[in-house]
Amino acid sequence: MIQRERLKELNNKPLQEGSYILYWMQAAQRAEWNHALEYAIQKANELQKPLLVLFSLTDRFPEANARHYLFLLEGLQETQRKLAQREIRMVVYLGDPVENVAQFSQKATFLVTDRGYLRIQREWREKVAQQVNCPFWQVETEVIVPVEVVSPHEEYGAYTIRPKLKKQLNRYLIPLREETVRIPSLSFPAFPHELDLSAPEKILEYLGIDKNIALLPHLGGTDRAKAKLKEFIAHHLSRYPTSRNDPSQDTLSAMSPYLHFGQISPLFITQEIIGAPVPEEVKETYLEELIVRRELSMNFVFYNPHYDSFQGLPSWAQDTLRKHRRDSRKYHYHLEDFENARTHDVLWNAAQKELVKTGKIHGYVRMYWGKKVLEWSNDPEEAFHTLLYLNNKYALDGRDPNSFAGIAWCFGKHDRAFGERPIFGKVRYMGKGNVRKKSIERAYVERIERM
Ligand SMILES: Cc1cc2nc3c(=O)[nH]c(=O)nc-3n(C[C@H](O)[C@H](O)[C@H](O)COP(=O)(O)OP(=O)(O)OC[C@H]3O[C@@H](n4cnc5c(N)ncnc54)[C@H](O)[C@@H]3O)c2cc1C
Repeated sequence: MIQRERLKELNNKPLQEGSYILYWMQAAQRAEWNHALEYAIQKANELQKPLLVLFSLTDRFPEANARHYLFLLEGLQETQRKLAQREIRMVVYLGDPVENVAQFSQKATFLVTDRGYLRIQREWREKVAQQVNCPFWQVETEVIVPVEVVSPHEEYGAYTIRPKLKKQLNRYLIPLREETVRIPSLSFPAFPHELDLSAPEKILEYLGIDKNIALLPHLGGTDRAKAKLKEFIAHHLSRYPTSRNDPSQDTLSAMSPYLHFGQISPLFITQEIIGAPVPEEVKETYLEELIVRRELSMNFVFYNPHYDSFQGLPSWAQDTLRKHRRDSRKYHYHLEDFENARTHDVLWNAAQKELVKTGKIHGYVRMYWGKKVLEWSNDPEEAFHTLLYLNNKYALDGRDPNSFAGIAWCFGKHDRAFGERPIFGKVRYMGKGNVRKKSIERAYVERIERM
């Protein structure tokens, strides 16, 4: 079922005579559990047209480098294959998304897209809406509850958004039915300059992107996401409430890169968790992260135009950090020291090495990693930039609403004020916490060194 509130008309154009229904796939890069895709199939059946799926690959996506593109291309390769199994043709084109979508829309009767929340994704949709002559509809599928339904404004924190989300869950936690495709589109001939996805690494060669980073091949795609989720549920979910704070074990779900690229649906993950044979409190703990925390991030980037800068922080946090900006620091590092994991602290260095080697940091250590950059940088603005740069360059789940919310959290966003102290002012300080036990720190550091 596709709830009406997931749908939004982005222009006001009448149906146009065309050869296909076009689904511009952008944020939801998957062939299943995708409301936008199923809606596009419904439209195609209703209007008796074939469905064409277009993915426009730009090599100008802010902060994206070869590591991210490889993960994305591996996912697209699988999505193209899976759509073909459903008799749907997917074409991948290099170039500016607005131009490509406008061009393909000339022959479309109806245009559907999914919904990403970042500034650039919104700008693309606005420009496409101005340029196309057929009806253009957006279908929200990257969250459980549509952002505007949850709240009409920016939320203060998890405690304010939680009850609003919970009130809506029953309406949106409904499995999505797969539509049958009535008019197959596989017979569309090859389009000129269409990208051949058979060798993703080859495509990287001719993209104008930053390639000065170690690649992490064979990770992307829906099948891998589902296999990881299955293993997590079978072996780790029952201990999630406690083990998630222990970085010496690699027992988290690792869903964030797949969610970021839309290779797995949050609704699918939620259904799998709800059906798992574990106590209710365990499910609640996991869903608190997946739904409450994640959708709080969507709320943040949707309603706060400064989500990627120091200006996006609450004014109390900006004021207190500015007041303490010249406080003396026992340790003092620049971007280069951080990037090369050259601090005095073996735990911090291990976190940075984990990020560089694997494209992720254990969730618990990630908070420590962020807070220490604030503590050891020249000033809070520099710390903010350093974190954005490191997180978004190396993390496979980087450049996500969660990235901006996670980094802003280190500076007081979505948090309350605490007792005043040097450097942090009233912003929450974080020591080693759970990792102060030497045995845990050692086990974590060794785990990372072995990688
Ligand atoms: C400084 C800093 C930077 C961060 N950068 C990112 C980022 O770039 N991308 C990203 O997805 N998350 C980021 N987070 C949030 C969190 O660390 C990751 O979502 C989590 O570690 C991902 O690993 P997992 O999928 O194994 O998580 P699990 O613990 O298995 O959680 C399952 C899912 O819940 C969601 N989730 C978990 N923790 C959080 C959280 N604190 N906030 C919002 N959603 C959460 C994620 O979607 C995650 O995939 C950041 C946090 C901090 C403190």
